[in-house]
Amino acid sequence: MNKFYTLSLLILLGCGTENQESTYSDLNKNGKMDLYENPKASLDERVADIMPRLSLEEKVGLVVGMGMNIPGMSMAERKDKVQGAAGSTLELPSLGISSIVLADGPAGLRIDPVRDSLDNNTYYCTAFPIATVLASTWNPDLVNRVGQAMGNEVKEYGVDVLLAPAMNIHRNPLAGRNFEYFSEDPVLSGKMAAAIVNGVESNGVGTSVKHFVANNQETNRMQINTIVSERAIREIYLRGFEIAVKEAQPWTIMSAYNQLNGTYASQNGELLNTVLREEWGFEGLVMTDWFAGKDAVAQMKAGNDLLMPGRPDQRQAILAAVSDGVLNEAVLDENVRHILKIVLQSPSFLGYAYSDQPNLKANAELAREAAAEGVVLLKNDDILPLKDPSIKIAAFGNGSYDFIAGGSGSGDVNEAYTVSLVEGLGRAKYLVSGALREDYQKYIAQEKAKQPEKKFFFELLPPIAERPLQKAEIAAHANESDLALITIGRNSGEFQDRTLEGDYYLTDGEKELIRNVSAAYHAVDKKVVLVLNIGNVIETASWRDQVDAIVLAWQGGQEAGNALADVLIGAVNPSGKLPTTFPMAYEDILSTKNFPGEALPGAEEVMMGPMSLGKASEVVYEEGIYVGYRYFTTFGVKTAYPFGYGLSYTSFSYDGLALGSEFFQERMFVAVEVINTGDTQGKESVQLYITAPGTSMDKPALELKAFSKTRVLKPGEREALNFSLDARDLASFDSDRSVWVVEPGEYSVKIGASSEDIRAEAKFQVVEEIIVEKVNKVLVPNRAIQEITRK
Ligand code: BGC
Repeated sequence: MNKFYTLSLLILLGCGTENQESTYSDLNKNGKMDLYENPKASLDERVADIMPRLSLEEKVGLVVGMGMNIPGMSMAERKDKVQGAAGSTLELPSLGISSIVLADGPAGLRIDPVRDSLDNNTYYCTAFPIATVLASTWNPDLVNRVGQAMGNEVKEYGVDVLLAPAMNIHRNPLAGRNFEYFSEDPVLSGKMAAAIVNGVESNGVGTSVKHFVANNQETNRMQINTIVSERAIREIYLRGFEIAVKEAQPWTIMSAYNQLNGTYASQNGELLNTVLREEWGFEGLVMTDWFAGKDAVAQMKAGNDLLMPGRPDQRQAILAAVSDGVLNEAVLDENVRHILKIVLQSPSFLGYAYSDQPNLKANAELAREAAAEGVVLLKNDDILPLKDPSIKIAAFGNGSYDFIAGGSGSGDVNEAYTVSLVEGLGRAKYLVSGALREDYQKYIAQEKAKQPEKKFFFELLPPIAERPLQKAEIAAHANESDLALITIGRNSGEFQDRTLEGDYYLTDGEKELIRNVSAAYHAVDKKVVLVLNIGNVIETASWRDQVDAIVLAWQGGQEAGNALADVLIGAVNPSGKLPTTFPMAYEDILSTKNFPGEALPGAEEVMMGPMSLGKASEVVYEEGIYVGYRYFTTFGVKTAYPFGYGLSYTSFSYDGLALGSEFFQERMFVAVEVINTGDTQGKESVQLYITAPGTSMDKPALELKAFSKTRVLKPGEREALNFSLDARDLASFDSDRSVWVVEPGEYSVKIGASSEDIRAEAKFQVVEEIIVEKVNKVLVPNRAIQEITRK
């Protein structure tokens, strides 16, 4: 029995909505307005005015969500305002307190595209490029526009809060949900998340930044205890969330499934009250991930205001705890206040007349622009762009025809269509072999028909094997066409991590395809372009020499094929750069030693009804702060494609690096000029890394502190980019003193085209130690960690 069937039983047992008519308008009949209804009063005053009007049962009702409709199952008891949304909160009609609707997710709104009511309307949403693509653009302005477009769909489909962005760190490539996340670097993740939040929320709807925190795997995800040092948690795993909270103040945060240093994230007061609220000044509400944690009362005490999707037993437990004096009602009141503050701002409360007609056309155009800007050109031996539209192209690989727009699970979007690479090229009027297409399409249809039925809604079916091709057939295509394209596709998603064999590594069929196609085309002096339609890192080093170009398209959303064609034919000059390192070998990644952790001795399978939720287990982040390029650059380990890397059809030089001062005071201003030295117009992403002295503390060889992207520069054109660093940008976390501290000494500003391609360097001095911030001694690991250090 699957998770969702089990969940549905729980919901049938008593999570139905109370279907009462709203009496909100009655309150205003005599022209009298209560304080809480007055939009001119402050939110705090309005909430304070509501609180005494609520019974204990109503308060408890508010902190526990209204249950969940299970996709594909008709639930007569419940009628969601927006079918396919992930959850909602309690409505209190007598006070005009509306229910708010929460729906996924990171690549765009996820709701049912058609409704049980058979109203003949469709409710498709735009599948935007996955978060990793957005991060690959290194362009927060563009990502902000994507957020605005997502928010338009959220608002116009009657949803109040988008359950996104997701921003866990790419700790290990096998983590099944990496595609929903941005990067291995916290600054890039944080800036991208802030851009999305600000964009979505500019529509007057909310976001839920998730999964807070250290949720870096799917294996045993609801049982795992993530053990991580105070320094690594602060510098790597919390830092991106901190940036997002401080720069965007999201309406809501979603706490993670896992335990952090011995306590469930959703029951962890140090995390939610001390760090998030007290230290960072978060003002919104915290909700659990769906069915996360074990103890509703502990969640209330920890400042996890809203339990999602909500179960009757949680209501009972909270009510009992208040009556028994185990839970102080003042704690519950605080949770309720956080929820009400959001409800009062929601479109549902404000009675927004949503149209069910978002700007799907304009949003698709933006999805195409973002997908193209996130394409990373990994290799180009004099073949791209394809300037001549009269060339004949033979497209190999199932993936060329069966394009993957995005990953599966709650990060998936129900889009109306996905443009494949071959369709994209066809629309750009490039000739793609029709015979080969027919053969592939027939094969794909046949193999799909043989696939087993999904056992549960989110199940990811095994990919179909690469279509076998005889050498003679390939040779014939090599003679008839001018160029071979090969697409390698990968999908992954919630509930399972990826495998090494057949996923991280190419399958034998894929290796054979690349080998044979390359040999046949090279034998007749023709070239091979390989497209990677993948959600996260795969092995590339063993086969990359066989092909002439490698285009990392990631999973670019519904417009991926058009976007990719734009790049291949040179309508868009690629400017994407890697947000995550491609290593030479999987074992080169430090976290592989501790991924995905181990079950505790004697741990039994934890069951929810008849369903397994995995075993109590532990994962120790022994790599500490040495995640991604921080490790490769510091320990001198060769990479296949480094963090920040990406080619262009033009070239750029960097000139005139200047610092505001030789000595750091409160800020350091940095300026550099970028010049387009090639003959094609294009944009360049510029990265600012810092190398710290590392005399008193272990420091990575370099760390990204800021980045910027030029506008489109014409050949010969130049642009000055300016950066500003503050003390916190230079600081590391000293766990002995619980301080963010800048050590004295010489600092290098390194301006890079990638983490391994530093183009300009300048130095400044910090005269004496700066204590930037003293924080609380919290989130201490519940057991010793043998952390790797440089010294
Ligand atoms: C996922 C969340 C998602 C929620 C609601 C959970 O399984 O972890 O990311 O927002 O479901 O669909």
